[in-house]
Amino acid sequence: MQAELIFTGTELLLGEVLNTHAQYLGRQMAAYGIEVILHTTVGDNWDRLAQVLEAALKRADLIIITGGLGPTTDDLTKDTVARVLGLPMVVHEPTLQWLREFMTRRRAPLSESMARQAYFPAGAKVLPNPAGTAPGALLVHRGKVIILLPGPPRELKAMFEASVVPYLASLGNPGMVTRSRLLKVTGISESQVQELIGDLGGQGNPGIAYLAQPGEVHVRISARAADGAVAEQMITGLLEKVRERLAGYLFGMDDDVLEEVVGRLLAQKGLTCALAESCTGGLTAARLTSIPGSSAYFLGSIVAYDNRVKEKVLGVPAGTLQVHGAVSQQTAVAMAEGVRSLTGAHLGLSITGIAGPGGGTPAKPVGLTYIALATADGTSCREFHFPGHRQAVRQGAANAALNMIRL
Ligand code: ATP
Ligand code: MG
Repeated sequence: MQAELIFTGTELLLGEVLNTHAQYLGRQMAAYGIEVILHTTVGDNWDRLAQVLEAALKRADLIIITGGLGPTTDDLTKDTVARVLGLPMVVHEPTLQWLREFMTRRRAPLSESMARQAYFPAGAKVLPNPAGTAPGALLVHRGKVIILLPGPPRELKAMFEASVVPYLASLGNPGMVTRSRLLKVTGISESQVQELIGDLGGQGNPGIAYLAQPGEVHVRISARAADGAVAEQMITGLLEKVRERLAGYLFGMDDDVLEEVVGRLLAQKGLTCALAESCTGGLTAARLTSIPGSSAYFLGSIVAYDNRVKEKVLGVPAGTLQVHGAVSQQTAVAMAEGVRSLTGAHLGLSITGIAGPGGGTPAKPVGLTYIALATADGTSCREFHFPGHRQAVRQGAANAALNMIRL
């Protein structure tokens, strides 16, 4: 089975938004053994989308079109598909009813433009949107399958998993399928990871691939086979070996994120934590609070950016700041202990470092960061040297801080 992907949105052509659907859908198609033969990106332009779709219908068996399902006048996808296939647009009553109820809950009338989201090319199977208002659609027309998915990445992913995966699985395995697992490590560089596991495999089948992220390294283990179960079996043995070698650094698999892993751990142990953040400016707190239920273990963060806040709010002694400087082990320790006693949290965690690009000296270069963890048993502090630009240093620092809670 051959597929074409069509991405709509003028913002993609202008380079304002990165086309992440291409990556996500490309991987998914590979996993289901569907060969993607062409990508096209078109603006929010009715005629050009029609041209691209007409051409795609001649080449591919499966066509996925993303974006343009929403209520605004630039959302033209469904109308264009109907026009190209010669189908009328018809209302889907359950969707219309759902939209009415949705708007009633928001105390707003159902506008004509909102109601457009309930109209589909005749014969389309409507795909519910688990994460938004605009449903998608699946059409089978003269032996070709056309799937329409929403633009927002969260909605696209949720709909793909809920509706498209079962459909693709029902087609059977049309070709070689790829299965892969992701191992996520932190506190170790990409090249160190490679030194630890490089001898276990490379680009072969099964293969190992490395993906450096700020503060983390992701290791993808994948295998291709005619059958999904065989591919999974090929991964399993290798996965165990890699897991063993990376054990000290491994914090999660696949969709795991560090802040969630750490949150789960705190909740399990019944511990609370509070932060004192200098160079990360609240980044660590933002990550912890992005996890639902974080109020069970996260008390708050003091963004102690200026020395006056370190001193007056956290109680870092003026002498410590003067003698050792804001970026020092002594200040980090005083910040962690300060926020712990201020909030009564079980754990007080502090971060102070030089994010750059300015402010570095030979003795204290950009990237130098101290992270301290204060507990009832005492305070520990670690020195880090994070490479890269300002955001990479900040991300790396937030990751290392979260990881200190984990360890
Ligand atoms: P909405 O109901 O939000 O209007 P829609 O299905 O009409 O959804 P679009 O209007 O095309 O979708 O896109 C909505 C947003 O989704 C865009 O502003 C963009 O940020 C994001 N988006 C669209 N296509 C992509 C893509 N290929 N990759 C990443 N993000 C995308
Ligand atoms: Mg839109």
